[in-house]
Amino acid sequence: MTAPVATADIAIIGAGSGGLSVAAGAAQLGLSVVLFEKGEMGGDCLNYGCVPSKALIAAAGAAHKARQGALGVTASGVQVDFDAVMAHVHHTIAAIAPVDSQERFEGLGVRVVREAAKFVDARTVASASFAVRARKIIIATGSRAAVPPIEGLSAVPFLTNETIFELKALPEKLIVLGGGPIGIELGQAFARLGSAVIIVEAGTPLGREDPAAAALVLDQLRKDGVEIIAGRKVLSAEPGPVLVLEGGKRIAGSHLLIAAGRTASLGDLDLDKAGIERTADGVKTNSAMRTTNRRVYAVGDAAGRGQFTHLAGAHAGLVVRRAIFALPVNADKLIVPRVTYADPEIATIGLTEAEARKAHGDAVRVEIFPFSENDRAQAEGDTRGFGKLVTTRRGKVLGVTLVGRSAGDHIHVWSLAMSAGLKLSKLTGMIAPYPTRGEISKRLAGQWYAPALFSPMTRWLVSVLKRLA
Ligand SMILES: Cc1cc2nc3c(=O)[nH]c(=O)nc-3n(C[C@H](O)[C@H](O)[C@H](O)COP(=O)(O)OP(=O)(O)OC[C@H]3O[C@@H](n4cnc5c(N)ncnc54)[C@H](O)[C@@H]3O)c2cc1C
Repeated sequence: MTAPVATADIAIIGAGSGGLSVAAGAAQLGLSVVLFEKGEMGGDCLNYGCVPSKALIAAAGAAHKARQGALGVTASGVQVDFDAVMAHVHHTIAAIAPVDSQERFEGLGVRVVREAAKFVDARTVASASFAVRARKIIIATGSRAAVPPIEGLSAVPFLTNETIFELKALPEKLIVLGGGPIGIELGQAFARLGSAVIIVEAGTPLGREDPAAAALVLDQLRKDGVEIIAGRKVLSAEPGPVLVLEGGKRIAGSHLLIAAGRTASLGDLDLDKAGIERTADGVKTNSAMRTTNRRVYAVGDAAGRGQFTHLAGAHAGLVVRRAIFALPVNADKLIVPRVTYADPEIATIGLTEAEARKAHGDAVRVEIFPFSENDRAQAEGDTRGFGKLVTTRRGKVLGVTLVGRSAGDHIHVWSLAMSAGLKLSKLTGMIAPYPTRGEISKRLAGQWYAPALFSPMTRWLVSVLKRLA
């Protein structure tokens, strides 16, 4: 390293959701910030993750609706112009990109270095042309698609989230390896755009979710023509691409997408030079997101505590509070919602029913409210789905699952309720506009009180009050 060493208050490696949030906060507080980015500004979410996938899903949803017709409306001659779909995907990225751009961050006073950086020692980070000694250093290097150790796979061309949005033609037959949120979202989207799709999952597809909610989504995927092979391991891969499964079954396709989990991007950082330990999932951090080097913090996917843009943003908020204002924070107590943006969507916060029963035994209560009892869902002719509320016997909210159209937009109220420790009565007291799907949350809370409200004791009290009035 020959570059002269600059000094800064904060050095950040990685300009994705986590790194950019720390950079924006620190720079606007008047601190000197150096931000290294080896690829595109905006990281995975903007360029290869949330944004392009949601744009593709929206186009696929439009194709599906047009093809299906509904509510007395039918369309004929529905066609998918894949070039135009991809143009929509890339226009969406371009529309959002200015918020994450080098120009915007330089405007905030951040020194942006568009090179790969690594640790030189415990408080120095350097790239090819720039070195900085910083009071605090933030690792925000994100994650990449994990490539499973399958015999022969290295000789087979495959797609990942970093290449699939660059496709120039619709895959004729797409094999998706992995039945988690990414595989399910993209598998459904490509099926609706016209590809034949096979999803192969060694375990249970959407296995983290409430089984009934997952079943609804998988049922819809099957109706969309997706073949789902679950509980079968892939033994080997051959050019074609062909996957050979346990039991000898062979699956051939035109394209293979690997969506079988994520690996934290830490390989080229020389963490050992800075005394930074790692775990199997990412950088080892304490509840303040501090690493084993007291000057260094990790945020987002690199920290291996979950892979969501909103979580990376939440980590960034904690780091700004801790590293800049020296305030107490606790990342272990974050209550983080998650959404699988299939149709129907699954949105979950806190514990699923199974997790709650494991942790609390029989001391849990479960309320279920189906979308078929929601007037807006009836009016829209789409009554698939339900809400499930899981509480302690005393009504503390342990978790909520919503599955149905726009479920992700309706989990917010539960995110607020759980993070603020609100009582269920606050939700029943809220006036929800009619008719909205959001009413389902109020109805879930109301249902929790129903047994007590309409109990023999309450009825006796009402009869007494009637006589007194
Ligand atoms: C297909 C897909 C869909 C997704 N959809 C959603 C969604 O709908 N909602 C959601 O919340 N999350 C979604 N995610 C997850 C989300 O994209 C990530 O959780 C988020 O991007 C993590 O942000 P980050 O800042 O930790 O990392 P990233 O956004 O990955 O940013 C890390 C940056 O660090 C850079 N970098 C790495 N190493 C170095 C180095 N040595 N020097 C300099 N720069 C370096 C990288 O180039 C990258 O730009 C999706 C992910 C995928 C793959």
